[in-house]
Amino acid sequence: MEDRDESQSGDRMLTCSQIELLLDDYVDNELDDVLRLQFERHLARCESCAGLVYDCQRIVEVARTLADEPIPTAVSRRLRQRLAEETGCPFAVNGLHVIEKDTE
Ligand SMILES: [Zn+2]
Repeated sequence: MEDRDESQSGDRMLTCSQIELLLDDYVDNELDDVLRLQFERHLARCESCAGLVYDCQRIVEVARTLADEPIPTAVSRRLRQRLAEETGCPFAVNGLHVIEKDTE
């Protein structure tokens, strides 16, 4: 019983692309407990996903704060576009047609 395979331990690791897919639901608190746990387990080991989630959570917080005040649509669109560009967070461009895969 030395190095046991993670895939056989019952704790399946989510992949980075799965994390991206679940990001919206996680940020919205819509994951069930099991999935949420797996999600957080991935974050504990994956710096890039953890950073992505952190950015998105901050965006959502800001968005919720701003949601209390009426913002002209154009302004909020520009804001979201900029956030998306700066963070690469797909959540920020939800519903917009500005998603560009522009990785360095
Ligand atoms: Zn990852």
